[in-house]
Amino acid sequence: MRSLASPLIAWTDKGLYCEAGGFYIDPHRAVDLAVVTHAHSDHARRGSKHYITVDSGIGLLRARIGKKISVEGVKYGERIRLGDVTVSLHSAGHILGSAQVRVEYGGEVWVASGDYKRDPDPSCEPFESVRCDTFITEATFGTPKYTWPKGADHGADLARWWSENADADRNAIVFGYSLGKGQRILAELARAHDSEHAPHARRPVLIHSAMVELTECYRAEGRVLAPTRPLDEAIADVEARDGKLAGELILAPPSVLDESWAKRLGDYRTAFASGWMQSGGWGRGRYDHGFVMSDHADWNDLNRTIRESGATRVFVQHRDGALVRHLRGLGLEAYSADDLVPERYARLPVKNLDLFAGLRPPEASGP
Ligand SMILES: [Zn+2]
Ligand SMILES: [Zn+2]
Repeated sequence: MRSLASPLIAWTDKGLYCEAGGFYIDPHRAVDLAVVTHAHSDHARRGSKHYITVDSGIGLLRARIGKKISVEGVKYGERIRLGDVTVSLHSAGHILGSAQVRVEYGGEVWVASGDYKRDPDPSCEPFESVRCDTFITEATFGTPKYTWPKGADHGADLARWWSENADADRNAIVFGYSLGKGQRILAELARAHDSEHAPHARRPVLIHSAMVELTECYRAEGRVLAPTRPLDEAIADVEARDGKLAGELILAPPSVLDESWAKRLGDYRTAFASGWMQSGGWGRGRYDHGFVMSDHADWNDLNRTIRESGATRVFVQHRDGALVRHLRGLGLEAYSADDLVPERYARLPVKNLDLFAGLRPPEASGP
């Protein structure tokens, strides 16, 4: 039986590891069994023998780390047995197929959040709140200065900016990550078709080559996106007629303005779509416009999510200082995820004895 002095999910040199289940979560090195929360490159890495991920994310995972990987898809909420634990994946609302990992052993439940957000996003399933005893949360925006207004109509805002530029015969370039942000923008624009700025929003959006395959993965999973056309194809077309692009909306990953295609555009304006825009953190002055569209929870949503989880122990990844202090002020046991290293975990004070009151021996392994 697992000792209470060891974490059900530990921090190791390969990433989060569940020894009782024999698997890693988003390992950053090759392992035998990797449960992958989503296909972003800091979570999904090549080389592992076998992967488990949400079924709707398999296409993205293959597009990102290899067509021939050995991967098993599970549905959101489906419970599977790995070693001595029961594992299920629950929507993280971050990108298509993104998941939180729920691990149950005896009566004890841990959840590792992966990246998540609470804002509505028509390109993926909404976040699901999962009850647990111990919550390992990301905190990309884990300081109080990162709060942003809710309820923005991103599709209408994007369509309006596009039509303003198109009316002046300019191209409008929106920079956003090629996986997730790009498709969210397309899904938001698809909804804006009925808005007053629709005339331009009905034209295909020109997408950078880095987004083409990933965007098709979304369509294959039934996500409704604005019509698109590969950017290089559109440029080749217009140049064959000795013209230049004008009035187009172009979606591209950040920092590609140096690429040759940028010189072949006509007049253009740029915008960046990111949560970082809110504080001017990235790109202040580098772009003509910013759309505050985050793929992560802001400060308020981090706190709301921790509250809704009911967890009495919280381990914070990425930006831990302010959130850990804040949670301790609320009476929670809060630590940096670094404290999930077994030697450090063993020295943590056990304050909330309730946490272990319901703990029973593990169920016998299945046949
Ligand atoms: Zn991510
Ligand atoms: Zn991440």
